[in-house]
Amino acid sequence: MKRFHIILVASALALVGATLPIAVMLHISWTLAVRAEQARLELFAKRVIVRAETAFAGASEALRTIARTPYEPCTEEHIAAMRRLAVNNRSIDEVGYFRDGILKCTSWGQTAERIAHSSGDYVTPDGIEVTARMRPLVSGGDARMALHYGDYNVLIDPVRLVDVIVDPGIKIAVGNDRGVLIGALNDPDPGVLRNLLANPRTGMDDHNVFAAARAQGWVAVAAQSRDSLLKPLRRERMLLLPVGAFIAAFVVGIIIWLSRKRLSPLGELTIAVRNREFIVHYQPIIELKTGICVGAEALVRWRRPDGSLVQPDLFVPLAEESGLIMPITDQIMDAVIRDLKVLLVADRSLHIAINLCADDIRTGRILSFIQTVLEPTGIRPQQIWLEATERGFICIDPARETIVQARKLGHSVAIDDFGTGYSSLQYLQGLPLDALKIDKSFIDTIGRNTATSSVTSHIIDMAKTLNLFIVAEGVETREQLDYLLDHGVHFAQGWFFAKPLPAKEFIAFYHHRQESHGSGPDVIRHAAA
Ligand code: C2E
Ligand code: CA
Ligand code: CA
Repeated sequence: MKRFHIILVASALALVGATLPIAVMLHISWTLAVRAEQARLELFAKRVIVRAETAFAGASEALRTIARTPYEPCTEEHIAAMRRLAVNNRSIDEVGYFRDGILKCTSWGQTAERIAHSSGDYVTPDGIEVTARMRPLVSGGDARMALHYGDYNVLIDPVRLVDVIVDPGIKIAVGNDRGVLIGALNDPDPGVLRNLLANPRTGMDDHNVFAAARAQGWVAVAAQSRDSLLKPLRRERMLLLPVGAFIAAFVVGIIIWLSRKRLSPLGELTIAVRNREFIVHYQPIIELKTGICVGAEALVRWRRPDGSLVQPDLFVPLAEESGLIMPITDQIMDAVIRDLKVLLVADRSLHIAINLCADDIRTGRILSFIQTVLEPTGIRPQQIWLEATERGFICIDPARETIVQARKLGHSVAIDDFGTGYSSLQYLQGLPLDALKIDKSFIDTIGRNTATSSVTSHIIDMAKTLNLFIVAEGVETREQLDYLLDHGVHFAQGWFFAKPLPAKEFIAFYHHRQESHGSGPDVIRHAAA
């Protein structure tokens, strides 16, 4: 379940991790392409303003020049002078001369019709009256921009104002800052451009990307269809998509690495310690003479979130190797108190044996922990036995120190799995132990006439010489029990009596044994003394 959960979450994260960077890069490419296109359009708009301003300034200058002409109005010389001006100035199409508000003659010649000067749209600060769009009555043709000064006016072809070189797809319009459209290039949609001129901005709508520029009373806008973005977009994508793919691969790699780490045995065990997934089963310890239950060995079980139990052989070695065994021992102590506090306080002769790891024996740090957690419970230190395997005695001096300290505090200390390691008699003599647990492998040999079967009786004799209590482990048969009784072994545990039991079942077992095997143990218990 947990595994499935991690895989599910990791897959979801990997999916997001893979798509998000690419989606972000696609978005950035789009934004960059739009920005680049808008910057290009803005440049055109600015160029148009420069162009319009130049044309306008040139026309104004010409207008002032002709106003100073010395010729008699509408004489041939005068008309010729006006014509020269129109021909020489690229922006000017026509020059006209007015008297008393009536057009008298133009660069084309004398005027036949009566054309009156009508007032313009606005007047520039230097006194030039401007009509943004005027239909030329003399020459006919398209609307022109008219500048009027003194008795003269000039007509400007609006195309001259937007006379810049742009791609055919770019549409340009120029107007004044009152929003009046004056000139346009490449047939822009009048509706859109009028709207933009009235409200100049850089942006995008459903069909166009556009940009605006304004200066010196001019407003210019440049617009282009959104399709034009495809090319720059492709360019940006070529650059950014590999970056997105690289980031995606990196993120997915990290997620795979992390989830593999979490899914690794050590990763799982670390999470289990954090989630306090360890429980304790209790294997009854029987006093052989009386048959009563004098205590139990606390044996850890890892209860996975799906309810399955993992046996210690499968995780204790890894826990010891990684140091996780210490917090596990702490959790076991907590569990013992939670499970058996009432029973232990009610029966002071009852003990629980805790398995210590090598590090706990070397450092002794477990002792102060046990002291702290026992204090408020009323459980006596004498009721907690500590089991240490021979591996715990590799650093003999600190181990001895821990044992001395433990016994001072009131605990009994047993050497566990005796005979399976390298410990010699010398070792045992030098350590102030209380009990010796004979490993199951020796008990298994009982009645089997094998080479090691005689070792069992030697171990028993040796323990007696050293004045140690003896606990036989892994007793499975009546025959083994009889042998142990014959040899004066004090205690035993094994499937013959009970398998390791959950707390409730152990408590029931204990009561049942009390009822069926008399009121109290024969052996004077060191622990309860
Ligand atoms: P151990 O300390 O020698 O524990 C005795 C083991 O023998 C237990 O295995 C117990 O269930 C098993 N056993 C007892 N009676 C019989 C029997 O009659 N027949 C058979 N076949 N087996 C029997 P378990 O519970 O699987 O524990 C295995 C080992 O894991 C323990 O050996 C101990 O070294 C370690 N362990 C268990 N709990 C803890 C713990 O809380 N802390 C530490 N550090 N190690 C632990
Ligand atoms: Ca043990
Ligand atoms: Ca053992």
